[in-house]
Amino acid sequence: MHARIVIVDDRATNLRIYAQFVALMGPTFSSKCFQSASEALAWLKSEPADLLIVDYRMPEMTGADFIRRVRARGEGRNIPAIIITARQDRECRIAALDAGATDFLQSPVTDGEFRERAKLLIRQHRKQKELAESTSLSPDSNTASESHAEPSAAASMLEQIIDTAPVLINATDRNGKLLFMNSYQAALFGQEPEMLVGKPISEVMEDGLALRETRRNRTILQSGKAMANFEECHISDGVVLTFHCNKSPLRNKDGQIIGVLTSAVDITARKFAEEHRAHLALHDMLTGLPNRALLAEKMRQTVESCQSDGSISALLLVDLDRFKVINDTRGHRAGDILLRQVAERLTTTLSADDFAARIGGDEFAIILRNVKNVEDISGECLKLLAQIGRPYSIDDSLQLIGASIGVAIIPSDGDSADELLRLADLAMYEAKSRGRNCHCFFSQQLNQIAQFNAGVEADLRVALDENQFFLEYQPIVDATTLQYSGLEALLRWHHPVRGRLMPSEFLRIANDSGLIDRIGTWVIKAVCLQIEQFGHENLSIPHIAVNVSPRQFQSPGMCDEILACIKEHSIKTGQVTVEITEELLLDQSPQLQNQLLKLRENGVDISIDDFGTGYSSLQYLRDLPASRLKIDQTFVSRIEHSAADRAIISTIAHLAHALGMRVVAEGVENVGQRDLLRASGCDELQGFLFGRALTVDQLRGLFSAGPAAYRLGAA
Ligand code: C2E
Ligand code: CA
Ligand code: CA
Repeated sequence: MHARIVIVDDRATNLRIYAQFVALMGPTFSSKCFQSASEALAWLKSEPADLLIVDYRMPEMTGADFIRRVRARGEGRNIPAIIITARQDRECRIAALDAGATDFLQSPVTDGEFRERAKLLIRQHRKQKELAESTSLSPDSNTASESHAEPSAAASMLEQIIDTAPVLINATDRNGKLLFMNSYQAALFGQEPEMLVGKPISEVMEDGLALRETRRNRTILQSGKAMANFEECHISDGVVLTFHCNKSPLRNKDGQIIGVLTSAVDITARKFAEEHRAHLALHDMLTGLPNRALLAEKMRQTVESCQSDGSISALLLVDLDRFKVINDTRGHRAGDILLRQVAERLTTTLSADDFAARIGGDEFAIILRNVKNVEDISGECLKLLAQIGRPYSIDDSLQLIGASIGVAIIPSDGDSADELLRLADLAMYEAKSRGRNCHCFFSQQLNQIAQFNAGVEADLRVALDENQFFLEYQPIVDATTLQYSGLEALLRWHHPVRGRLMPSEFLRIANDSGLIDRIGTWVIKAVCLQIEQFGHENLSIPHIAVNVSPRQFQSPGMCDEILACIKEHSIKTGQVTVEITEELLLDQSPQLQNQLLKLRENGVDISIDDFGTGYSSLQYLRDLPASRLKIDQTFVSRIEHSAADRAIISTIAHLAHALGMRVVAEGVENVGQRDLLRASGCDELQGFLFGRALTVDQLRGLFSAGPAAYRLGAA
């Protein structure tokens, strides 16, 4: 029998692809394509269809609106409809379900998926249509009932009603033989009712179903009580249909139970919608893995069973390393493909008892059931890391990624889902800080550090409100003249209990907690105020460099904030510069590029800090509007003993000059280093040799007599 598939999608390419899929289904399937939803609606008024494939996002109306309109008409009430949604369109799917969608496909749709779903739905629909048609009275069934022993008018009316209801109805006697079966149910077995009456159900129904029915019937015969609202599946020609069933005892006029009456309504479509809804609530749409909600449930069960049988399980938190870079440089689509592949590898690596969920952008959680010991868990982690670390092929190019895993052991580390997740998370961060692409177990020590950090975070909030921060300024000198060419503002915290704290003691926490944004704002303001103040005092000081964390660049208004502050305090061009780290350069988003360009255009110079410690290459620098490159202290500290480091510094200096940048060496502590750095081509030097960070009063002393130069033993 021929089947017609109607496809509605506003994009012509999609229509072409789906039509191609239909063509591949064979000669008994044909497609009718519409780019406009309203045209499709008009066409469907007069033409039949066996399946609708509808894109969710269309300009005229959504896929849900479309389905709703089709369903509102008599002829369209039952046509199966597949909605195509984009990634993670949870809301759309729910809207489509409410409108009466039968199934979903996620774009980009694959050929196999498309054909499989389309065929299944068409077959199911046909079956239901066949059953429905079997109930509309055919001339045959009229003659059939007439040939029966002269039924009274009332009885034939009843029989007709029973036969035309779209409900399965049958009655069996005490021995399980069919006393009666309506046309609708008989059609399910491809038979006429008369052919089945008198047969035992074991001959009519498939074995499993017959067994269950016999058991239920026996219960009813024994108890004399009805059995309401149970579900049962019927398989007809390979199509599975779900029914909502009721049974009650059949009595004779004396009240004796002579059999069982069964009725059942087809709820296949509703069942599907319910299951789909339940699935949506508990699964991640991109990867199909369980989500956080299902993980929590699974963890509760795991803790319970560990406690009751003394077994051990492990919770693994797997976080991909630098996934954001891939997302930003190769696009979200590539990121999505990668995530799906990672999810697939996780599930294939794990054994059937284990459990994997996606709980965040690039974060997965795994429960390893029944592990023996720590070595066992380590082995699993290494296996997972090895699988994740295999190259991925995305759009014909290779991509590598690593992951960091944090482990919490159930139940010894904790017995609540939230607590275990928190502990595994701590361990995961520890793995990241140990260089990534490794795993790390939770320990009490990590917990103590976390608690200590939480205390620091609370103190930091107070510090901002109570003005406990202050700045010191470390001089930078010109390598040849030793004139002070700049100052770097360095943050200090006067802690009410712990005294003076250096950035290493609180900056990471400020970053992780997001407080760095407010602190950064404070630093800019303080520097601008200081320059303005020095101006009033007629003190001529060189430019001041301000450190800005990569995180601060995440707020799109940051650059405007800096520029507004500079303007407010009437600061001259070139007086404030910004130091950013290499890490930031990995983010090649146009948004960041624009922020940096805007700073530069408005007279704020940019320095690349700690160069050589991160992952950037000179290639990143080429397109960057930076004017200074600061070679990291670690190179400088080795320069006297390592010819390789000397060569590296010379090369970097050479290339940086070619790109029009000045080169600054940091952490210069002695004369030997100074001389080698000069010889290597560094333009400016900074380090304890030329002075530690100075207080404002010390700066006043240094510059009281105009621009100054470093003298050995001064400062
Ligand atoms: P950085 O930007 O690399 O700053 C230079 C660090 O090296 C300073 O440490 C400085 O005191 C130290 N240093 C300078 N010369 C020498 C030397 O000759 N030998 C040695 N061993 N060290 C030297 P400090 O002040 O502890 O700052 C550490 C880091 O904290 C800075 O590294 C910077 O990344 C960050 N930081 C400081 N102030 C701020 C701020 O206001 N905002 C942000 N976001 N970060 C800041
Ligand atoms: Ca710096
Ligand atoms: Ca630095």
